[in-house]
Amino acid sequence: MPQADTKRRAELVPVSPDAKTSDGTSVFLDESELWDRDRIASAQVQSLRAVLKRAAGCGFYRERLAGLDPMDIASPADIARIPFTTKDDLRSQYPLGLLCVPRREIVRMHSSSGTTGNPVAVCHTRGDLGEWAGVMARCLYMVGVRPDDVFQNMSGYGLFTGGLGIHFGAERLGCMTIPAGPGNSRRQIKLLRDFGTTAIHVLPSYALILADHMRELGEDPKSFPLRVAVVGAEPYSEEFRLRLQNLYDMDVFNSYGLSEMSGPGVAFECPWRQGLHVWEDHFLPEIVDVATGEPVPDGEVGELVLTSLRREGMPILRYRTRDLTRFLPGDCPCGRRHRRIDRILGRADDMFIVKGVNIYPMQIERVIMTFPDVGHDYRIVLENDGLGDVLRVQIEMRDAFFEEDMRKLQSLQKTIAQRLRSEILVTPRVELVEGSSLPKTEGKAVRVVDMRRKD
Ligand SMILES: [Zn+2]
Repeated sequence: MPQADTKRRAELVPVSPDAKTSDGTSVFLDESELWDRDRIASAQVQSLRAVLKRAAGCGFYRERLAGLDPMDIASPADIARIPFTTKDDLRSQYPLGLLCVPRREIVRMHSSSGTTGNPVAVCHTRGDLGEWAGVMARCLYMVGVRPDDVFQNMSGYGLFTGGLGIHFGAERLGCMTIPAGPGNSRRQIKLLRDFGTTAIHVLPSYALILADHMRELGEDPKSFPLRVAVVGAEPYSEEFRLRLQNLYDMDVFNSYGLSEMSGPGVAFECPWRQGLHVWEDHFLPEIVDVATGEPVPDGEVGELVLTSLRREGMPILRYRTRDLTRFLPGDCPCGRRHRRIDRILGRADDMFIVKGVNIYPMQIERVIMTFPDVGHDYRIVLENDGLGDVLRVQIEMRDAFFEEDMRKLQSLQKTIAQRLRSEILVTPRVELVEGSSLPKTEGKAVRVVDMRRKD
């Protein structure tokens, strides 16, 4: 069994037809990873035309796409002629209203959780499952997973797509794949040890819990042969990634997917870890202004909109994901030209407007968390003082902070306000408060309190 100091790590080798990693294997799995922008664009046009033809097989799309000839699509930008699809649209067509093939061709159904009303049902043909496993295998291969790896999937198996989606990708690649499922830390640790697991898929929060269990058993997380972890499903910061990498002495890669687009495998980090490549031969990504639906320039935050280009059973056109991110400008050093998105910065539903400016809580969080004296909690309070909108940001500080003199407090308040102003273009009133003094809620934290009168 390999020891910690012999762990093979992800290698920074740019893609080219002959490029190899030090184990003598190719750096890429699929030829499409070598495509330039022109090749990607022409493939997208062909696929989009085919998808539009297929979509005419379902009443919902037939009505929506009336008057649009697939041959009208001459470039990827022509996708703007197709109407958006929302989660409510998908719910309204539950369970089988969006099928574009006869029911007998469907071999699997996945579903996203519905807290109210109907959930969303996503149906797959045998061909769809094959494409999904293929693209997932490509993601794993890109970060250095190889057929000789033992892959332990700690994600829930069931209607949720993180289990089976990742599982079939790892199997397709040829890994010995262990469907461990979530929780049951003692068993996870035994499997990790007994089978010499080298690669895992895990939720960020659970990865920390698992390390605690290892220490309770007197085992050092670094002593396991783990060398690569795929971590997704919950947003996490760069600081969190570094913590996890050090804790286990393994590479951690960010993964993005959603059940409406099959599941995991939509976008994935390459070994350079500078954003996530969206596989543009399978998905056509757009980033639009949340309010207007118009495209935003590269580098600007907006809502990710995705179109599935290869699905047969249930293609989804211009899906408003509600996930906020931005296209990263420029080329990735890995040589892949599939566009990169930033890690997910939050949900469109969390957006608020102050003095006509769209602001997301994550923008504020990213600024304030860079100050070492800032604690874990903060609150954004929106008010109207009679003259206009007031944005107050209440920030809990580390305990030691208030033992120092008041001049430091005032100067830090001013610095944070200035840094926020340059990020969100609105000058906030910053209040630094003692740790644990903001009201706590059970479950999801309440970050924004809007006290403005709506009249
Ligand atoms: Zn890259």
